[in-house]
Amino acid sequence: MTEWDIQSRGDACTTCQKPFVDKEAYHTLLSLDATGYARRDLCGVCFASTSRDGIISYWQGEYKLPPPPPPEAIQKETAETLLRKLVESTDPSHAAARYILAVMLERKRILKHRDTVHEEDGNDLLVYEHARTGESFTLPDPHLRLDQLAHVQEEVAALLQPTAGSAKAEPVNGPSPGV
Ligand SMILES: [Zn+2]
Repeated sequence: MTEWDIQSRGDACTTCQKPFVDKEAYHTLLSLDATGYARRDLCGVCFASTSRDGIISYWQGEYKLPPPPPPEAIQKETAETLLRKLVESTDPSHAAARYILAVMLERKRILKHRDTVHEEDGNDLLVYEHARTGESFTLPDPHLRLDQLAHVQEEVAALLQPTAGSAKAEPVNGPSPGV
């Protein structure tokens, strides 16, 4: 099991299946099971009758009708696309870069910090929600020291640099095999 992932917000209540309408309040519950984080998005009625047992994180949001997806052609490597790549990659060495990107996106109000979960093993899990799409991003807090921060910021800046003559930036998908 990895400690970081992205989960989309449901367009309907997980329990009663009633579709959310624009501006409806939804209640998000995260719990941990054998396969990872399980996310439920509930309407007010179902939330009122749902047990909080086993819930590690909870927040409330306002449903917005999803916008049409941006055309592929104009997608560039941004802090957001890079964070998505790094969260989907299973390489634990990206923990610091994931964290820096999440903080950058929070400052830009693209992500909202929803919760910090203090886990039994002493780690802190940060829970963000995408302001527009409602997806939740979970990532461990690497507790960077000040002297590590500058180095990681340089690393992230390098990953965000457009590479001349090539559509692909540096590979970020994990360690090379056989080392
Ligand atoms: Zn419901």
